[in-house]
Amino acid sequence: MTVQALTSFRAREHHRFEAAGKPFVYLVPSAAIYELDDTADAVLRTTAQRACTRDDLLDALGDRDGLDSTVADLLRVQAIAHVDQPTPQTPKIIPLAPFPLTTMVLNVTNQCNLSCTYCYEYGEDKIVDTENGRQPKFMSEETARQSVEFVLKESGTNPAAHITFFGGETLMNFPVLQKTIGYARARAAELGKTVDFSLTTNATLLKPEIIEFLADNDVGVTVSIDGPREVQDKFRVFNNGTGSYDVVAPKIRELLRRHRSRPIGARVTLTSANLDVTRIFRHLTEDIGFWEVGFAPVTTSPDRAHAIGDGGYDRMLAQFRDLAGEFLEASVANRHHGFSNVKETLEELHKGVSKAFPCGAGLGLLGVATDGDVALCHRFAGSDTHKVGTVRDGIDRAAQQTFLERHHIANKTDCSVCWARPLCSGGCYHEAHTRYGDTTHANLHYCEWIRGWTDVCLKIYGELSVRNPGFLAQFDREPMTEKIS
Ligand code: SF4
Ligand code: SF4
Repeated sequence: MTVQALTSFRAREHHRFEAAGKPFVYLVPSAAIYELDDTADAVLRTTAQRACTRDDLLDALGDRDGLDSTVADLLRVQAIAHVDQPTPQTPKIIPLAPFPLTTMVLNVTNQCNLSCTYCYEYGEDKIVDTENGRQPKFMSEETARQSVEFVLKESGTNPAAHITFFGGETLMNFPVLQKTIGYARARAAELGKTVDFSLTTNATLLKPEIIEFLADNDVGVTVSIDGPREVQDKFRVFNNGTGSYDVVAPKIRELLRRHRSRPIGARVTLTSANLDVTRIFRHLTEDIGFWEVGFAPVTTSPDRAHAIGDGGYDRMLAQFRDLAGEFLEASVANRHHGFSNVKETLEELHKGVSKAFPCGAGLGLLGVATDGDVALCHRFAGSDTHKVGTVRDGIDRAAQQTFLERHHIANKTDCSVCWARPLCSGGCYHEAHTRYGDTTHANLHYCEWIRGWTDVCLKIYGELSVRNPGFLAQFDREPMTEKIS
C-alpha cells in the first residue's frame, strides 16, 4: 500500500514507552500493547515532534523497507492520523439493562468504634448524617435477607454473586453478618448458584470465635490499617483519642495465623502526613505478615490538612515506582510480592480493559444502606441523591439509566484526549463528589499522578512480557473482580 505523498501525519491516541531495552506502544482506542519494530518506532517518534509528509519521513528515516505499510498500520490503529482528520468522538454506548449485578456491598452498620480523622464517612466531608439521620444504625436481619434475595435476582444468569460486608465498622454487626452468610449460602444453593463473601474491618473487634467463623466460612478479609504504630496512631484513633495500633496488631497476627484459606490483605490510606509507602509496606508484610498491601490516597477536599497536594503526589509516585521495581524483580524470579496496586493494574492492562465508566459503581456493583436503600456504591449508601432503588423494590432502571448517561466518559471533555483514559475514565465518583461537589466531574487534580502511575505499570508490563511472560499468563486464568476501596 502506498501512502499519499502530500498528506501530513501527526502522532495521536497512543503512549510510547520503553521496557527491557525495547520500544513499546500503548494504543488508546484498543487498549492494546505492542512491541515496536525500528520503523514503527521511528515513525512514532518523528510524528510526535512535528507533522510529517511521507517525504519528510523518508528524509528523516532514510529509505526503509516497509515504511508505507508501517504508516498504513499506524493509521489504522489510530496511533497516528492525518493532520486534518478530526479527533474521533468517543462513542457513547450505554450497556443494555438489565445489567447483571456481580458485587453487592452491604453496609451492615453505619457506626464505627474508631474516629479516624480523615474518614469520608464521619469527617467534615461526609455525605450522609449517620448520627441523626433517618437510617437505622444497624442493618436488621430482615433487610439483610432481602438484600440477599435482591443480589441473587439481580445477578441474572450469572452463576455466582459476590457479597462484601462493609461499615462503619463491619464487625459491630457481626450477628447479622453471620446469619446473612448462612442464609445466602442456602438460598444460592436452592437456585443453583454460588456466593462468595468478603469483608473490610478495622480489626479492633476481631476475637477467636469471629476469626474461627471467617476462616471456616472462607470469608475474604481486608484490614484497614495505616502502618507502624506511630503512623497508625496519627489518624486511626478511638473516640477518646487513643491510638489503635496496640489493640489491632495482636488481633491481626491471630487472624493471619488462623485464617489460611484466603490471602488476607491490608488497605492503607495515604495522607500528606503519611506517605512513607516503602516503610509501611515493609512493616505490614514483614513484621505483621499480610499477604498483600494496597494503598489509596485519602479522599478529601483540598483544604484539609491531611489532603495530599501536588508535591505529595510526586513523592507518592516516586515511592510507588520503587516498590513496583521490587515487584518486577520478584515477579521475574516467580517470587510473590504483595504490592497489590501494581498487580491490579497489570491485570487490567493484560486484559485490555478500556472503561467507559471508571468503576463498576451503578452497574455491576451496588451499595446497600442499613435501611435497604440501594446506592451507586458503599460510599454513597444512604444518600438520597445517589439512590438507585431499594432491595425490596429492585433497581430503579430509569435512575440507573440517567446515571449512566451522565457519567459516560464521552461527556468528560478533558479525558477525551488523555492517553490514560482506558484505565482511569475520569476516576472515582466519590472522589469527584468530595473534591468538586459533582460526581460527573473528572478528577483532574490527580491526572499527573494517574498518568505517571500508568506509565510505571506499562513499563513493568513490557519488562515482564520480555523477561517472564509466564507471569502475565496467570491473568488469563482469573476472572476480573470488582475492587472495593
Ligand atoms: S481524569 Fe485525568 S488522567 Fe483520568 S482520564 Fe481524565 S484526563 Fe486522563
Ligand atoms: S471507585 Fe469510587 S465510585 Fe467507584 S466503587 Fe470505588 S468508591 Fe465507589
